[in-house]
Amino acid sequence: MNYYSLHRKSPNTSFKNAVIEGLAKDRGIYFPENITPLSKDFIENIEQYSHEEIAFEAIKQFVGDEIPETVLKEIIKETVSFDFPVVEIEENIGTLELFHGPTMAFKDVGARFMSSCLAYFNRDNDKEITVLVATSGDTGGAVANGFLNAKGIKVVILYPSGKVSDIQERQLTTLGNNITALEVDGVFDDCQDMVKTAFLDKTIQRTLTSANSINVARWLPQMFYFFFAYKQLKKQNKELVFSVPSGNFGNICAGIMANKLGLPIKHFIAATNINDTVSNYLENGNYVPKPSKATISNAMDVGNPSNFIRIQELFNNDLMALKNKFSSYSFTDEITKKAMQSIFTESGYIADPHGAVGYLGLQKYDLEENEYGVFLETAHPVKFLDVVETTLPVSIEIPEQIKKVIGKEKVSLKIRTYEELKSSLNAE
Ligand SMILES: *Cc1c(COP(=O)(O)O)cnc(C)c1O
Repeated sequence: MNYYSLHRKSPNTSFKNAVIEGLAKDRGIYFPENITPLSKDFIENIEQYSHEEIAFEAIKQFVGDEIPETVLKEIIKETVSFDFPVVEIEENIGTLELFHGPTMAFKDVGARFMSSCLAYFNRDNDKEITVLVATSGDTGGAVANGFLNAKGIKVVILYPSGKVSDIQERQLTTLGNNITALEVDGVFDDCQDMVKTAFLDKTIQRTLTSANSINVARWLPQMFYFFFAYKQLKKQNKELVFSVPSGNFGNICAGIMANKLGLPIKHFIAATNINDTVSNYLENGNYVPKPSKATISNAMDVGNPSNFIRIQELFNNDLMALKNKFSSYSFTDEITKKAMQSIFTESGYIADPHGAVGYLGLQKYDLEENEYGVFLETAHPVKFLDVVETTLPVSIEIPEQIKKVIGKEKVSLKIRTYEELKSSLNAE
């Protein structure tokens, strides 16, 4: 499969190149040339297929013959080797729990898939690839874990000192081996700026790629769990509405791709915190990116969502068509905490702040009788322990995956300036 740049000023390229480059030379993000719906028969009989078979059907056209079938199946098997349950919390409302992976965030799926693809493409190359990524929290852990010991790949993660939770910090600073954590004296935007500068810097002597959702190999596998949810809910015979807690809009964009492939989904809701660039756009037609504002759902503190351009492309840049299928609502921290409390009181379910924003999206949309609403629980509540334990009368049991990192010693290199990042990259 070939991909084109959404800036349309670079030549089209293969899946392999799109994965290695991350971003096209014209700084546009990549989009597949063709999207062919899956057979009706497959969707009709989805309950008969395993998660691995479903994931393979969903992704194979986007990889094409660039990875042999047997290898791709092996990659998928590792990518989806944990549970993706839909847990019903109210009549006609369920939550799709995406936090059963190794770092307890949905990003595990994309990070693991991308790392295996990259390792496969780099298998005969003696030049190391460096994955450079800035994180505000969850991406770092998922990428560190997903790429740990990947052959021929070095990972450098920048995170803002003192601005990520203790658990998140340990997840990205305790693995060692091919993973280096750089602790930046600054905020997330400073980390992001340094990464962007490095990508444009011709004096860096390494092959750099990024591992956030602009990379097609991290974005596309996120389609899988919309199929898995449908498989579980098909017997309800209702029309599905998905509410996705959104930051960079990669997750929800993957859901819309799944819909393009023929998965019956009636409506999508991008639920956000007060970073409301997209909901404003839907309301008044002006897309005005803003600096991000800090919230309790900090993995969604994004003022200029990088995948929104892919969503527009999926609707042929037709705002009316988009609004028919897609809504976006924004919620304050105060309302989010109230939602966490009411979910807990009504059903005993502990939602993390991101999941609670998703739940609020469904409330605002106001489901009809023949509809079933699913909100995505994108992280385990333990990842946002402070907020959860000060908002709800609970103390959360620490899951096994987290216990593993809690006792380990943090290793990070403190940096303040871009020059320090550069010398660290050019060392060795
Ligand atoms: C990354 C993240 C999100 C936002 O996902 P996007 O694909 O960037 O919209 C939401 N919740 C959690 C917990 C995350 O880590």
